[in-house]
Amino acid sequence: MDDCIFCKIASGEIHGLRIYEDEETLAFMDIAMDVDGHILVIPKKHVKNILDCDFETLSAVSRTVKIVSNHLTEHCGYDGVNILNASDESAGQSVFHLHIHIIPRKKDDGLDVWPKFEGAKEDIRAVFEKVKM
Ligand code: 5GP
Ligand code: ZN
Repeated sequence: MDDCIFCKIASGEIHGLRIYEDEETLAFMDIAMDVDGHILVIPKKHVKNILDCDFETLSAVSRTVKIVSNHLTEHCGYDGVNILNASDESAGQSVFHLHIHIIPRKKDDGLDVWPKFEGAKEDIRAVFEKVKM
């Protein structure tokens, strides 16, 4: 997609700090510098988010998320990872090319990565009736 920053990083038109790639996916450093080791995993083809993504592409992305996560814990001194994704503006997505955030974690690193929710407003049974499949 012409106007997409992550398509440009995937194609090499824009420089990215490439950690790992295969034919379908790329893992590279997030530019935010908000937390040490913040990594993004993307499909090389343009897909907007998980809601738009075909199963095969999501499967390839998941594979790379696991490969990079295991690399971080087995070879880079990290103990665990947080895996985050925003799909749609309503969920906080700001770049509209599917990406999975990997935040490497160390025991006692003091990071607060899990959101503090304010409490459910709807009855759990009512929500269950709405969302059950
Ligand atoms: P979102 O808010 O959509 O879940 O995350 C978008 C992420 O993309 C942010 O963490 C942001 O720092 C990152 N990002 C935005 N523009 C660039 C860029 O040009 N290069 C890299 N490496 N990361 C970017
Ligand atoms: Zn794109």
